[in-house]
Amino acid sequence: MNRISQRVATLSPSATLAMSQKSAELKAQGVDVINMSVGEPDFNTPDFIKEAACKAVEENYSHYSPVAGYLSLRQAICGKLLRENGLHFTPDCIVVGNGAKQELCNVILATINPGDEVIIPVPAWVSYIEMVKLAEGIAVPVRAGIEQDFKITAAQLEAAITPRSRMIMLNSPSNPTGSIYSYDELKALVEVLERHPEIIVLTDDIYEHINFVEHVHSIAEFESLRDRTVIINGVSKAYAMTGWRIGYMAGPTDIAKAVSKLQGQYTSGASSIAQKAAEAAYNGPQECVEDMRRAFERRRDLIVSLAAEIPGWVCNIPQGAFYLFPEVTAYIGKRYDDIEIKSSGDYVMYLLEHAHVACVDGDAFCAPGYMRLSYATSDDNIREAMRRIREASALLQ
Ligand code: PMP
Ligand code: GLU
Repeated sequence: MNRISQRVATLSPSATLAMSQKSAELKAQGVDVINMSVGEPDFNTPDFIKEAACKAVEENYSHYSPVAGYLSLRQAICGKLLRENGLHFTPDCIVVGNGAKQELCNVILATINPGDEVIIPVPAWVSYIEMVKLAEGIAVPVRAGIEQDFKITAAQLEAAITPRSRMIMLNSPSNPTGSIYSYDELKALVEVLERHPEIIVLTDDIYEHINFVEHVHSIAEFESLRDRTVIINGVSKAYAMTGWRIGYMAGPTDIAKAVSKLQGQYTSGASSIAQKAAEAAYNGPQECVEDMRRAFERRRDLIVSLAAEIPGWVCNIPQGAFYLFPEVTAYIGKRYDDIEIKSSGDYVMYLLEHAHVACVDGDAFCAPGYMRLSYATSDDNIREAMRRIREASALLQ
């Protein structure tokens, strides 16, 4: 008897989390695996944030929080948006939830009807298309390969729009490619969107702080789209707080209200202790963010230089986030003993088994032929992983 709903049966499992689990299982069996699959900062949460959480426990923040999050946290988020992005928001525009992931899904569930089309530039993070499927929307992938630095053009966007288009999802800096849209590139997209007022703009800015450019712009800066732009962000990446599970949406009040209603029925407010920790993160000293950013930039330079020594790999130079996304089709069709590499997925499995390095197949990001390496790990791990990959790849003939 099949007891699983169509909704869940047709959902793909998260490939990033699955690969990370596989690597943890191998490690538990004693295999010396270097995990470059999951994308999360390897740093510990800064002390002043942990102290705020301990204080919250002492002060008995042990009751249900308001569904949309504590007012003090939503005020801190408004402070951040004004200070760092020059954007005016009031707390009724903000909903805090269990990570950026939940808020992304909430916004989609709160705005997309069955059959509505959601434009997703790909490569894109594994969960976007699945979230649209959950809402019974239709994901419309718009492909941008390495030759255009993984960024869609205004003409591609225009061509993807139909009378059923209801949303576009943007992610800059991008997971998995590290690409960042410049102000002018965003402006060109904005000019197209201005002609289509029915399209909501969902901008996932979670990697905002991890960038190696002078200034990261968000499409949320464009006043003409302001009444239909929703920002997603959170503390996971900037403050090394992935396990605390705090993210938020900031957008028009009707969408915030709908998201809050939805959240009130199926999860309630996010963890009270984690919310107090996030509040401290936004209100506290920000040097930790810059320290971690600098470490990521050094590691980006390191992995890019080592990747250049691997024959056949074609790489862009990621401008942000902490991923390298090489095109690896040169290895398709090659063999080692009785193993034949038929896809980037086979290559990734071969590297896991023969180099003991865990990466993620580009197919999970709608980009077969590529693979993703997270360089949010130590310099030594990066060096050793790339050495192993180079040696194992050289065995493929
Ligand atoms: N968006 C992107 C592009 C991500 O890579 C992640 C990290 N998994 C998230 C959202 C979700 O982050 P959070 O930990 O806040 O749920
Ligand atoms: N952002 C991370 C990744 O892409 C976290 C894992 C996930 O939630 O997918 O690896």
